[in-house]
Formats: sequence, C-alpha cells, structure tokens
Amino acid sequence: MRVISDSGELRAVLTGWRGRKKTLGFVPTMGCLHEGHLSLIRAAKKENTAVIASIFVNPLQFGPREDFKRYPRNLERDKRFLKKEGTDFLFLPGVGEFYPKDFQTSVSVVYLSKGLCGKTRPTHFSGVCTVVLKLLNLVMPDRLYLGQKDYQQYRVLGQMMEDLGFPCQTRLCPIVREEDGLAMSSRNVLLSANERKEARLLHQALGLVQGLVISGVKSVIQIKKAGKEILAQSSLGRLDYLEVVNARTLSPVVKLKRGDEILAAVAFFFKKTRLIDNVLIKVT
Ligand code: AMP
Repeated sequence: MRVISDSGELRAVLTGWRGRKKTLGFVPTMGCLHEGHLSLIRAAKKENTAVIASIFVNPLQFGPREDFKRYPRNLERDKRFLKKEGTDFLFLPGVGEFYPKDFQTSVSVVYLSKGLCGKTRPTHFSGVCTVVLKLLNLVMPDRLYLGQKDYQQYRVLGQMMEDLGFPCQTRLCPIVREEDGLAMSSRNVLLSANERKEARLLHQALGLVQGLVISGVKSVIQIKKAGKEILAQSSLGRLDYLEVVNARTLSPVVKLKRGDEILAAVAFFFKKTRLIDNVLIKVT
C-alpha cells in the first residue's frame, strides 16, 4: 500500500498509474475504521483494478459546538486494516495543505441538504460537498463507494456530481451492524457502557417502523409515533429526529402509497455523541 500525504505527489502517482482499461475505486473516510468502512473497500476491490482510500477528519463538516476535537482517531490501526484488505493507495492529506489560509470556496447542494441531519447541522453538508469535490478532483476515480448509513450524504453527493457533471459512478453499500443491530460507527466508541446498551433502540425503532409499513399501515403520523415510543425507552439519550421521507427527494411523506420508495431515518443524541441510522423501504 502506497501512503501519500501531498496532493501534488498524489496527482503525479495516479497519472503514472492510470492506463487503458484500468479503473479506480475510491473510499473516502474520516478514519477510525471498522467493518462498515472495510465493506466499502471490499466492494471497491471487487469491481476495480485498484482501490484508493482517504482518511481525513474534515473540519469543515463539523459545526462550532460539535465533536471535531473529540472525533476518534487511530491511524496506525487504520493503516493495518487497509493493508490487510489489499488497498492500493491511501491518501492522508494534512489540514494545512488541504485548506490553506486563504481557502474560501464552499460547495452547497441547496434543497437536499436542508432536512433530516441538515436541520441540526446546517453547515454539515456543504462541508462534506466541499471536501469530497476536492478529493474527487484529485483522485479522479471511476467509482465512488458510500455507505447507506449516511444516506442523506449519498443523495447530496449524487446530486452534486450530477449537477456539476462529474464523471464518476456512485455505489451505495449496505449498513454493517453490530450483533445487537446497532449500525457500526466510529463514534460508537464514545458511548458509555449504559449508553451503548440503549443505542440498540435506534435499530429496534426502525425495525418497528419497517414492520408497520410492510404490514400495510399507511399513516406516517401513526408510524412515527410508534417508532418514537421505542426511542422514549431511553433514559440517557434524546431524540433529534425520526422522519419518513421520499428516498429520492428526501421530502417528508404524509400518507404512504403503493410503489413509494421511502427512507425512515433516525438521529439520536447521547450527550454530545450523535448517532444516525436508517432503513430504505419499498411500499407494497
Ligand atoms: P465516515 O468515516 O464516518 O465519514 O464514513 C466513511 C464512509 O463509510 C461513508 O460512506 C459512510 O457511509 C460509510 N460507513 C460508515 N459506517 C458504515 C456502516 N456501519 N456500514 C456501511 N458503511 C458505513
């Protein structure tokens, strides 16, 4: 695995590497890797000649009172994991090089960034778009691998690439979970033992929501109420949102119709640690 931290060097190395019929799969991450991230590496490995991962805790996507400083980091372990999966390149930009003092550009996808996580984190998605567009311009991958856990991010980035004509396919990879159903997340290590126990309620609430939709309940108010009742069993956490939205537009749905593709999504706080999860459902 070739580890590169300078943008110019990355460009030169990849220019030398590129050739006819070679394809490059790209997995951007913020590190502290777990099986969820590694599933993206494996998916990329399967359908490309080479795989590049990046690790960069992007300050632009954290709000002023969010957990940028506390965000878990574990670079040596990450390198071992990536090597073991056969990752070909690892890009580790430094904050100073990536965002020099006079950096002033911001990329925004206006409507898809407003709801769900955008309500609590109003600057988050422009931070994500700005860093990912910069990374894409450097890496020029053929395919970009994203996890369903951050489904809104997947939609926002897909829209950005479509709007700006970025020539890259996007692959959405399923959520990898712990045994009790909790979606794997780098932030899970920040939970206390009791918070960790309660965190399984997110998956339980979404399971109930999914069950109600499958059993034919059409009222979203009723479905959300049932999901929220499960989350109300938590004594240590607090609900940010539980929403049911159209899976493409991310706009709220009131009454379900046969054929609708919907996303039920949840965000939940344990003190400053914010967990998210979701399920995609086709209404029958
Ligand atoms: P992050 O390091 O949290 O920015 O995540 C990097 C990528 O890994 C994003 O595309 C995430 O959606 C994806 N990812 C994070 N957690 C999981 C998970 N549990 N299952 C699948 N993909 C995940």
